[in-house]
Amino acid sequence: MIELRTPSEIDAMRPAGRFVAEVLATLRDDTKVGTNLLSIDKRAHEMIRKAGAESCYIDYHPSFGASPFGKVICTSINDAVLHGLPHDYTLRDGDLVSLDFAVSVDGWVADSAVSFVVGSPRDEDLALIDMTERALDAAIGAAVTGGRIGDISHAVAEVARADGYSINTDFGGHGVGRTMHGDPHVPNDGKPNRGYPLRPGLVIALEPWFLQSTDELVTDPDGWTLRSADGSRGAHAEHTVAITEDGPLILTDRSFLGVA
Ligand code: MG
Repeated sequence: MIELRTPSEIDAMRPAGRFVAEVLATLRDDTKVGTNLLSIDKRAHEMIRKAGAESCYIDYHPSFGASPFGKVICTSINDAVLHGLPHDYTLRDGDLVSLDFAVSVDGWVADSAVSFVVGSPRDEDLALIDMTERALDAAIGAAVTGGRIGDISHAVAEVARADGYSINTDFGGHGVGRTMHGDPHVPNDGKPNRGYPLRPGLVIALEPWFLQSTDELVTDPDGWTLRSADGSRGAHAEHTVAITEDGPLILTDRSFLGVA
């Protein structure tokens, strides 16, 4: 079921969005060569506790999961791109890091992801991250009243295709509200002018993610971490966006912190 939020409900979602923005900005800043993934999770957990927020991940146990996730953040490194379960790994020079974080504050969820390189980046990793961020910008630009979900999907895919990347539509964006995953599904490819109409009050997480040279994923033995089938690296960018009469409102925007 697709739920539309009133303007006052969207206002009530702002603290969750701001908190997610602050945590990702802080973690991105603190994550360096030599940082262990378990310490990123620990830091995120401390921030959650201090803020009185609630993790959407720690007890998350969908049908495909072997057991509850047990951590509060996804850390996907290099050829891992989605659902990376934090484990005992110390980041090395040039590692490509994707952090995906969702919490509930005052009963409202926000969900966002960011990708970056620690140490000296490879050119192709910077190009992949840049393209993924441009795809997210295009998705947000299409998240306007009068459009349809397919317009967002198409906008994402156009950016990727223009740069020669292939697209996987198994995992994509989703409705966000009282829980982390709701309708509608927002695939990262689709036909314009198709799908659910975009109306004021629709709140969706938009999340383009791409791999360098494949669109096939394999699952790690941990039952969670999704990696490229060919070992090529991946990037992921995500914001929670409310469609309003005045255009898209990026609830997880980090720009108020002076960062992208
Ligand atoms: Mg997310």
